Amino acid sequence: MSSTVHVVGAGIAGLTAALVLARRGHAVRVWERSDGTGGCTHHGGGMLAPVSELDHGEAWVADLGHDSAARWRALLPDAPREVLATDGLLVVAHRPEWPLLDEHVDRAVRAGHGARVERVDAAGIAAREPLLAGRFHRGLWLAGEGRVDPRRLRRVLLRELDAAGATVRLGVEVDPARDRRRGGPLDGVVVDARGLAAPDLDLRPVRGEYVLLRAPAVTLRHPVRVAHPRYPLYAIPRGEGLVYVGATQVESGHEGPPQARSVLELLSALYGLHPAFAEAEVVELGVGHRPARPDHRPVIAPREGGLALNGLFRHGFLFAPVLAEAVADRLEGRAIDPRVSPFVAEAACAC
Ligand SMILES: Cc1cc2nc3c(=O)[nH]c(=O)nc-3n(C[C@H](O)[C@H](O)[C@H](O)COP(=O)(O)OP(=O)(O)OC[C@H]3O[C@@H](n4cnc5c(N)ncnc54)[C@H](O)[C@@H]3O)c2cc1C
Repeated sequence: MSSTVHVVGAGIAGLTAALVLARRGHAVRVWERSDGTGGCTHHGGGMLAPVSELDHGEAWVADLGHDSAARWRALLPDAPREVLATDGLLVVAHRPEWPLLDEHVDRAVRAGHGARVERVDAAGIAAREPLLAGRFHRGLWLAGEGRVDPRRLRRVLLRELDAAGATVRLGVEVDPARDRRRGGPLDGVVVDARGLAAPDLDLRPVRGEYVLLRAPAVTLRHPVRVAHPRYPLYAIPRGEGLVYVGATQVESGHEGPPQARSVLELLSALYGLHPAFAEAEVVELGVGHRPARPDHRPVIAPREGGLALNGLFRHGFLFAPVLAEAVADRLEGRAIDPRVSPFVAEAACAC
């Protein structure tokens, strides 16, 4: 493949695919209509949680994302902790919800990932997350999980693309159907990673509301999930005392600000994690829309002159590295990772 690869969309899907392609020596140009803060990626929590996400997905989620933290580390070996942390995730539950922890372990065992989950008691919780000492007596520790800070990560990926010789055009909207003509801006191979703006993929928006807090006095070291049947919560530490608290999952494309009910539920559950969060400042009440296909699975679909990568739903950061490698393999005509094959729509790639 000697032509320029045009990646349309600088969300996590497009940026990761672009970086893998650029590092493999391809001439890469990225086109992004926003200033670099557009799309779902800006709003994501950034957990790399293949096994702890099993309560929201099927076994394939854990299979496809199982080595995501390690893949991110391999892609960005020098990324500082504020950008990428791959040293574990804690799940805790209040006493009435302890059975949920057992269900969680059972699900992981059934999915073939039981060895990745360690039960921890009060001492184990306190050792991993001193803030929670004395507050929880049972939990689960997932050593292979982690998190990224999506906004910092995006900036790092843009810098890495520059270092790898790729060009990035921010603030430019392109249309693969129109601009692929010979001599047009997208003359070459196109990777369409436009998220919800992409046509023909049967996508729908799934709304997610979250709260960003500044809580310098409340230090979490790792992402923490609270198991609850009605108000599941996760709190993810970010640099500068910020904590991301997420997230709802609502079948809606409504663009308006978060509902009071959602904020009440998220913050009440957070207060149950630790009452000191009551002193935090609310920095942002945010909303993002996850690009979802009817089966909630990602897809690599053939397109005239290239392919589309989409449908990352609630696992964009988790799946991006493995899907990016598959996109590059596909464009180069190589065999792709068998874990990804079920997500590749069949048809000849016309690259
Ligand atoms: C509240 C919330 C929490 C989440 N938490 C997590 C989590 O913890 N872990 C996880 O793995 N995932 C999480 N996700 C999911 C994750 O954020 C998404 O799967 C991911 O961001 C989708 O990335 P994308 O690149 O496919 O799409 P997008 O991020 O939407 O990127 C598409 C880009 O294409 C650009 N674009 C569109 N049309 C054009 C055009 N014509 N020309 C140029 N550019 C164009 C857009 O501006 C946009 O930047 C969460 C999502 C939400 C909403």
